Amino acid sequence: MASLDQSNLSRRSFIAGAGSAAAITFSPRFLFAQSKGIVPTMIDAAAKATIKTYPLRRNISALEGSGGNIGVLTGKDGKLLVDSGFTVSKPRILEALNSLGSDRIAQLLNTHWHTDHTDGNAWVHDAGARITAHVNTKKHLSTSTRVEGWDWTFPPAPSGAIPTVVFDDEHRLQHNDTNIRLKYYGPAHTDSDVSVFFEEADIIHVGDTWWNGIYPFIDYSTGGSIDGMIHAAERNLRVITDKMIVIPGHGPIGDKVGLTEFGEMLVAIRNNVATLKKQGKSLSETIASKPTAAYDAKYGHFLITPEIFTTLVYSGV
Ligand SMILES: [Zn+2]
Repeated sequence: MASLDQSNLSRRSFIAGAGSAAAITFSPRFLFAQSKGIVPTMIDAAAKATIKTYPLRRNISALEGSGGNIGVLTGKDGKLLVDSGFTVSKPRILEALNSLGSDRIAQLLNTHWHTDHTDGNAWVHDAGARITAHVNTKKHLSTSTRVEGWDWTFPPAPSGAIPTVVFDDEHRLQHNDTNIRLKYYGPAHTDSDVSVFFEEADIIHVGDTWWNGIYPFIDYSTGGSIDGMIHAAERNLRVITDKMIVIPGHGPIGDKVGLTEFGEMLVAIRNNVATLKKQGKSLSETIASKPTAAYDAKYGHFLITPEIFTTLVYSGV
């Protein structure tokens, strides 16, 4: 199985930034406090990153290196992309797409509204793509939207970046002789998360309901919560079989085994944090009790540190 590299974002600067913030305050707006802010830091990382291409099965590949993992379905109807990364990566994403064939870009599906998955929407649309997403992705991209945990307010996206095909619960399409099904999770990582299932290839992109091998961000500002993340993980485990290839929002390509471990981690940490909060422990006391300790070696080495993840869970229990 292809292994995606998680090191494109500057891990050291995130850890340093989060650590110094944690010493001052645990307010969500300071989760990622650092001189630049998380969003410019993510963009800078994408600007420098190489885009890696991972052929998966049949005519489907994944691109890694610009924000969230991008799925690509190639063929005579034109390329279909799942998520668009950051605009600064356009030349390198185009190069990667060209390496997969000469078909034009025809469709773009967004797994949710976050900028590391939709910032490239405008250029992908200009290149010829029709954009499909959950109705709440359109809503958040159409207006000024704040993410408290990132201490960042996004202006409305340019008109070309706004999805023109939207749905509430489920949407099906046929493209390149492939049946594709998009399904809404309900509130999970945000209030706009959908899965994208490629039937014939038996591949599913689950967006940011799964960060493979790393603690996830949870966006409480636009409807996400730890309980929503757990519900999404439970649904993933109900519908995903042992044979499916799973594209996570972040981290290496995976399968049901990794998803199962991720779901167990979410539940265990939620219970630990809820118990401490019920005992009357403050956030800093809860962090000091290390409710994530059993999982830190595996999940705590990237953008969302044990302290940040504990803070995110504490907000929701
Ligand atoms: Zn996200």
